[in-house]
Parts: sequence; structure tokens; C-alpha cells
Amino acid sequence: MESYDVIIVGGGVGGLVSAALLADEGMRVLVLEQGKNLGGCAATFSRKGYRFDAGATIGCGFHDGGPMQWLGDRLGIRWPLLTLPIAWEYLSGKVQLQLDSKRESVFAVFPASEELWREQAEASDILWRVTSELLTLYGQSGFRKIAATATSLLPKLARTRIVKLAGTTALRWLHRHGLGDDTMFRRFIDAQLLISAQTVSTDSNALFAALALDLPRKAPATLTGGMGTVADLLGEAIACRGGKIHLNEQVRRLDQAGDRIQQVVTSRSQYLGKQIVLNGSTASLASLLGKQPSSAWPADNRARWGAFILHLGVQKNLMDGRKARHIQIAQAMEKDDIALRSVFISSSDANDLSRAPAGHLALTVSCHTNVAQWWQVHQESRPKYLQKKQKLTEKILDSMEQHLGSFRDDIDLCLSGTPLTYARYTGRFQGLVGGYAQTGLFAPRQPCYGLKNLHLVGDHRFPGQSLPGVTVGAALVADKIMRMC
Ligand SMILES: Cc1cc2nc3c(=O)[nH]c(=O)nc-3n(C[C@H](O)[C@H](O)[C@H](O)COP(=O)(O)OP(=O)(O)OC[C@H]3O[C@@H](n4cnc5c(N)ncnc54)[C@H](O)[C@@H]3O)c2cc1C
Repeated sequence: MESYDVIIVGGGVGGLVSAALLADEGMRVLVLEQGKNLGGCAATFSRKGYRFDAGATIGCGFHDGGPMQWLGDRLGIRWPLLTLPIAWEYLSGKVQLQLDSKRESVFAVFPASEELWREQAEASDILWRVTSELLTLYGQSGFRKIAATATSLLPKLARTRIVKLAGTTALRWLHRHGLGDDTMFRRFIDAQLLISAQTVSTDSNALFAALALDLPRKAPATLTGGMGTVADLLGEAIACRGGKIHLNEQVRRLDQAGDRIQQVVTSRSQYLGKQIVLNGSTASLASLLGKQPSSAWPADNRARWGAFILHLGVQKNLMDGRKARHIQIAQAMEKDDIALRSVFISSSDANDLSRAPAGHLALTVSCHTNVAQWWQVHQESRPKYLQKKQKLTEKILDSMEQHLGSFRDDIDLCLSGTPLTYARYTGRFQGLVGGYAQTGLFAPRQPCYGLKNLHLVGDHRFPGQSLPGVTVGAALVADKIMRMC
């Protein structure tokens, strides 16, 4: 049986970052990915001449001192960034905002919010500095870390502003500024949080929210070839350091002996690993151990949302004449479903011919949705499920045409995906991709059943700003494994 220092189950960004950092330290790593592409929710896949981003479309954390830049420097990767002077355009009724680093259009429409934004910028600048310092301690001894934490990190975090935000939710923070009952402003904040933190103001810690709301200020970017380029370049970094990556190989079982995982059983083979990294949640771990995920897990984590997504190949430049390539349409919530509350449209760069033929665009259009209803209707009957899928697709297309003009006749290809699709392609429990409670300072607890050589990475583990959050979490796990080995 082949054996490795570390086996990484799942080639999403979390799994790949930890694998690349461990391979960089000379460890023998094996990444097992069930799909035919790396990247999971941040993959880019090909279909009929188009390359679509599976989920994530805007990169952040690539700025000077940001986690993605730190990772690139460490691994010798130059990210092919296409910077976005305007992160995205926000449209809601008569409100139209360009989200850029200066936020002038936001101040013009919501003048009472200036103080909140000042506070947000101050808090997030401190947090970015803390993150950057934390990453510079990567690989250093425990003693140095303790010393640096005591002398530098803690004093930064002990500032009144930070402490005040850490102890409250984003919504209460808005109330402190007299903005919590301003429906239009709250809708705007919730819409931004849905994109950057995959949750809304009621479920978001104010400090994490401050960081998530920083996205337009911190050099947002896309990448040539799509978001999946991040995963592909990490894959190359792993391979050129001697690490192995097996695509289309699903881990079916983790065999436990005492308090350790002894072997990893896949759709093709079996492997021995001294340490195991699982790119997933406790719920995924439970099913690989042959246990029932705790029935309280979704409730404890307030995990109820997944994504509904359209991948559209369009023979027309819908973004012609617009200042941004990403557009968010926000509206009041329909009954108790959050779908259509925020429809996020991301277009490929018209000049990036690796994404779509000349004159065509590859669009990824996403909204959040409660996952339970999709599983329920699918269980009732497949025709009902397909009908529901078609109905939401039509609603999204209607909403897009209302704001962007008619384009249905120019659609070459329309693929739609529900939480069931996400569950199949990313292995995420029930297809959950957001809505995890982040009201406290720490991520929802993800128990590892007392397993000493099992580590979880991914966005269940480290809330905050999507890719950078996952990257920092995975770097901390790699650091811990290096100290154990
Ligand atoms: C619609 C949508 C839009 C988003 N937009 C943005 C954005 O614009 N910017 C941003 O920064 N973030 C965004 N995010 C969030 C970001 O994509 C995720 O937080 C991040 O990609 C999650 O990475 P991860 O490592 O946690 O896991 P995942 O991406 O879930 O990857 C897990 C991987 O493990 C594999 N796997 C699972 N089980 C097994 C098994 N048993 N055997 C083998 N392999 C397995 C899966 O196939 C998958 O590749 C978005 C997410 C979604 C869903």
C-alpha cells in the first residue's frame, strides 16, 4: 500500500493551500480529489467552448501583505491578476452604486453612513495587519509565536474599536450608527456580506463583517483563465515539489484505529497517511467515518443556505457600456426564501479568449437559497424538482433582463445548479455553502471525534473573507502539522 506523510482529502482551495505548503517543506503529500478539476467552489470548468467559474468569481487578499500575496511569494507563484477598479455595481430599485476603494457613490446615497465606514476601514486595516503578522510567524517556534502575540498582536487587537466590534453582530453595529432600521442600507450591507462572508448582518460578527466589507477597498481582482487559475497554479506548485495529485478519485472511507485514522479508502485504492487533512466539515468527516452527522449540526451551525447557480454562455457583450464586470441585483426578500434577495452576475473579461469565443461571454450568476426545500422536492418527485429549477431560472433571467436589457435570444448555453448539484460536485454536506453562524469571534465548532492525526481545512473552519479566510486557515493547519511531524 502506498504511504505518505500527509494525505489531503479534497482539492478545494483549503486542501491545496495546505498541500502546497507541506510539500514546500519537503513532506510527501497526496491530494485526492473526486472531481476532474481542482478548486471545488473556486474551480473553473469547460463546457461547449466556454470556461465557467463554478462559484467564486472575485479574488481578494491579493493586495500587498494580503494572504494570497504571502502565499504566492512563499511558493513562487505569480498570480495573473486582472484588477477590478470597481469591484462590482450594486443595483436595487433606484439605488445604483459603484463599489470602489473610495466609496464616493455610497457616501452620496447613504450620507449618514460615513462614520460607520470610517470605523470599518480602521478595524479592517488592523485586522489585515494582524493577519499579515500572523503569517510572518508561519513556521517559527512556539516560543517566538507566544512572544510576538504578547508584544505585537494582542496590543493591536486590544484597541477599543476592535473589542467593541468583536462582541457584537453586524446588525447591532448598524443600529449603533442609527442605520439598522434603514431598509435600503441594511439591504445593501446584507447583499455585500452575502458575497464576501456568505451570510447576512444578523448572523455575522461585526469584526468579521468589517473585514468582509473591505473587499472593494483591497484591490479586488479576477484571474486570467478564471478563478480556477488559483487552484491550477497551486496544483502545479504541489506537483513541482514532488507532491502527487489524483483527480477523479473519491475518498469513500476513513478507517479508524483508536484515536488515529489508519487508512484512506478511495474509489480506486487504499493509502496510508501519517497525517490526514480533510477539506470539509465535521458533517463530511462523520460520513467518511461511517457515523451519522449529528442531527443538531446544521442547526448548531445555523447552516441552511446553499447556492443556486446559472452558467450562461452568451453571444453578446452584456457589459458593453457598463463600468463593472460584476453586477449585483438586490431586492426585498420573497416570503422566507433568500433567493433573489441578491443575484450576483459575474462576466468573463471580454478580452480573455480562454474563457469564451470572441464576442461571447461566460457568465456565472448566483444567488443563495435554503437547501432543505430542494432536497425535499427532489425526494417528492424528479419532475417537480426540475419544474422548480426551471421556475427559479426564469425568475433570475427576468430580473437580469429588467436591469441589463433583453438577451434571452443570445443565450447559447444555460446550465443551472441547485444545492444538490453542489453536493454532487463539491462533496459538501447537503450542498451547504453559506449561512454558517459567525456571530461569535470563533468559527462554528467542528469536532474531529478526538482523532489525533485528522485536521479540517476549508471555509467551515475559518469564517470571514472567502478565499483569503480559507487560505489563512489552511496555512495555520499546515504550520501545526509541521510542528507535529
Ligand atoms: C456561488 C459562490 C460564490 C462565491 N463567490 C466567492 C467570491 O467571489 N470570492 C471568494 O473569495 N469566495 C467566494 N465564494 C466562497 C469560496 O468559493 C469558498 O469559500 C471556497 O472556495 C471554499 O473552499 P474550501 O477549501 O472550503 O472547499 P470546497 O471548495 O468546498 O472544496 C472541497 C473539495 O473537496 C473535494 N471533496 C469533497 N469530498 C471529497 C471526497 N470524499 N473525496 C475526494 N474529494 C472530495 C470536492 O470535490 C472539492 O473539490 C463563493 C462560493 C460560492 C458557492
